[in-house]
Amino acid sequence: MLGSHLFITDNCWSKKNVLVSLIILFCAIQNCGCFTEIKIGALFHGENSQQEQTFQLAVAHVNKKQHGYELKPYVQYVEEHDVLQVDAAVCDLLSNGVWAIFGPNSSSASEQVQSICDTIEIPHIEMRWNTKQRRQDVALNLYPHPKALSRVYADLVKAWKWKSFTILFESDEGLIRLSYVLKMYGPKDFTVTVRHLNDSSNYRPVLRRVKRSGEINFILDCSIQNLPEIMKQAQQVGLMTDAYNFIITTMDVHTIDLEPYQHGGTNITGFQLVDTMSEHVQSIINSWKNFEIEDADWPDIEPEEIEVESALLYDAVLLFDNTVREMRDLHIEDSPSGCDNVWGHGHSFINLMRDRYKTLRGLTGPVHFDYEGFRTDFMLHIVELTGDGLQKIGTWNSTTGLSLIREEISTEVRQEESLQNRTLIVLTAISKPYGMRVDTSQTLKGNDMYEGFGIDLIHEIAIMLGFNYTFVLQLDSKYGTLNKETKKWDGMVRELLEGNADLAITDLTITAERESAVDFTMPFMNLGIAILYKKPMKAAPKLFSFMDPFSKDVWIVMFAAYIGVSLMLFVMGRISPYEWTNPYPCIEEPETLENQFTLSNSLWFTIGSLMQQGTEIAPIAVSTRMVAGIWWFFTLIMVSSYTANLAAFLTVESMYQPIKNVKDLADQNTIKYGAKRGGSTLNFFRDSEDEIYRRMYNTMINTPGVLTKDNDEGVEKVKNSNYAFFMESTSIEYVTERNCDLTQVGDKLDNKGYGIAMRKNMTYRNSLSTAVLKLQETGRLQALKNKWWKEERGGGQCVDAEENTDVSGLKLENVGGVFVVLMGGVVFAIFVTFFELLWDVGHKSLKEKIPFKTLLMEELRFVAKLHGTTKPVRKYNQDAEVEDTNNFIPLSPYTNSYGFVDSKEPLT
Ligand code: GLU
Repeated sequence: MLGSHLFITDNCWSKKNVLVSLIILFCAIQNCGCFTEIKIGALFHGENSQQEQTFQLAVAHVNKKQHGYELKPYVQYVEEHDVLQVDAAVCDLLSNGVWAIFGPNSSSASEQVQSICDTIEIPHIEMRWNTKQRRQDVALNLYPHPKALSRVYADLVKAWKWKSFTILFESDEGLIRLSYVLKMYGPKDFTVTVRHLNDSSNYRPVLRRVKRSGEINFILDCSIQNLPEIMKQAQQVGLMTDAYNFIITTMDVHTIDLEPYQHGGTNITGFQLVDTMSEHVQSIINSWKNFEIEDADWPDIEPEEIEVESALLYDAVLLFDNTVREMRDLHIEDSPSGCDNVWGHGHSFINLMRDRYKTLRGLTGPVHFDYEGFRTDFMLHIVELTGDGLQKIGTWNSTTGLSLIREEISTEVRQEESLQNRTLIVLTAISKPYGMRVDTSQTLKGNDMYEGFGIDLIHEIAIMLGFNYTFVLQLDSKYGTLNKETKKWDGMVRELLEGNADLAITDLTITAERESAVDFTMPFMNLGIAILYKKPMKAAPKLFSFMDPFSKDVWIVMFAAYIGVSLMLFVMGRISPYEWTNPYPCIEEPETLENQFTLSNSLWFTIGSLMQQGTEIAPIAVSTRMVAGIWWFFTLIMVSSYTANLAAFLTVESMYQPIKNVKDLADQNTIKYGAKRGGSTLNFFRDSEDEIYRRMYNTMINTPGVLTKDNDEGVEKVKNSNYAFFMESTSIEYVTERNCDLTQVGDKLDNKGYGIAMRKNMTYRNSLSTAVLKLQETGRLQALKNKWWKEERGGGQCVDAEENTDVSGLKLENVGGVFVVLMGGVVFAIFVTFFELLWDVGHKSLKEKIPFKTLLMEELRFVAKLHGTTKPVRKYNQDAEVEDTNNFIPLSPYTNSYGFVDSKEPLT
């Protein structure tokens, strides 16, 4: 215990001696009550703390002002949870007659002190974070009110435009402190994640976890004692880079050594209640150096060392002094005298202290209380860690809210700044031609060990944006798949999330799943999944290869046309009167006429012309000649097409491609197929909604040995076994440029791109994307592609070896026109046939005076019988009055058989 000596006079109304009278006189002159010495007590947890020092300095400061009384400090040290000790210490202070008790700062001890003070009615002055402040207590807390403080953090989160952030808290108190911030959570507003920093001194597991989550914005709430260790461990796990933003809630951030984090670019924002940079604060603290404190040997306090609770205690003593001077109307005549007697002035004293029209300008700014007696109106200083240490960037007070001195630096500028002269770790994987080891007998080191499209691309971007880079290799060639059960990433994505690399470049496909964990630049290459397979091979000779020039459809339709035209000839031959001829030309008046177009003759006639051989049968009527002509035209086209296509088939007939597209592959079992294990290609089949692709995925998963470690293994399998490899089209292009016996089969199954990956929300993402676009627009990307695909490492080998093996049988679409012409011709000929019949019947009906209809029906009935090759000749109607001497009417002007030349003379 410090100082137990007592110098004060307890009661000024003693009339025993002159000395007492003098004191009365002195009191009257001073008009400030009756005391020359006022005792105040303070409780601390531990000796020689900065708080005790500021308490003594505050008392020295007040006493130096000589207001007619002196403050006499009494100090007790207590253990935080030792109830008996706290009780004893308070009672000891009270028995010494202290008018107020300051502290202590732990909540349990302070609450106990509070309950005694409430009972005895002694002012209890606190300087601690306390969520349970009550108006009716005989207490005054100089610490900013929790609700008001909580608003500050929320305002800053909004000012920083964070949409998502993680709260790292150490104790439940922290969550109360951040209650406003927690209320900001909403599905459409802010994504807030809360993580507890466990009590052990190893915070790394939690920090690693938050890092892996991809979060970049953090609110860190912890005690000032643990803050240096937490920040150190955050730096160890890679959270202290320019990718991350921190708001640190403690108001003592200026008291710790921030030098290790000053140059990493981490955006650290803190708060100060004590404006350590202000002249006012500096002059007060510097003035302390002039005070000598009895029995104490404390080092001088520098402005940047002052803790908020020490500053609050200093201000509290000043406020107390201020109030004592105003209390002349209270006529306090006694001092407290132990734990059993109520003093009775506590409430009046506290009310005067928290008078809302009173403002004290202390170390913690204007000390001012609201009508409820809480310190809700205070000034906070927002500071930011820069290369030169903490810099003030704004203020907050309850009236005007947050006002930032510097405007938010535009993202563009920050990106440029953040990449300039930085060294980025770039992860790549060995995959031709994106990243490859340089082929040389020399020993190479660092970036010189690698070459390829991706390596050149990073080099070009680095030149544009002014950063340095170091390549590291993804040894297992895994690019990144999310394990759906453990929710953990593997491969390059994992390395990025764990902060082991800043960028990843190779044939890394941009997928929705990966995009949820990391960010990508604009795609630098577009591609799609296709099949890599061997080029068509020589087919075994086929017995019926002569059928190949025409597709099956054409053969069928041609046969149908043959039958159809033959039948038409047969029918039209019967209808047309001109096809009925005199079988015996030497007999002038034949009994019957004959028709050459029997069914078999018709079939023979058409097949004869189709086979280009001809027959003795020749059509006589215009209609049948028309059919014959059109049929000859048809055969001409078909035969020449067949011949031409057969020639092409004979040239390339030996080429055979068992699969032509992905469906062919799915529908067979002989050719095995697979893709890169864990690659986006395999995942495409896994996630596809197409039933065929899902089936293929199951086949690939369940067939041993079809999935490969990388593309090279797949290519080897295609070359050496009956295997088709699903690969990305740009990689197929590279392979087929160098392996002339391999080719891409079928079309691309999808469309996607490769991008450069990085952790989420990296400030330089846009710069990188812009650089990629610029390279694309200037043609540099294409030049790089040509270099690595067509020139380097054996490119361009297979340009001449490309063969056109695309010969296929003529399909109906190719020859359909000929069929149409044939059909048109036949239909026209049918009309002509009927015209011929009608003409002939009309002529006969006139001659024979038989009704047209009767004659026509007779003819049609004969036709409808469809059999018989002879037709009786109708005899001349005797009753008819005919000028003509002919006794019969020929059926046709061409009644002669084939070869008879009509003299156009009437027969006699
Ligand atoms: N580009 C693929 C990926 O990013 C790897 C190759 C593949 O799956 O075909 O996973």
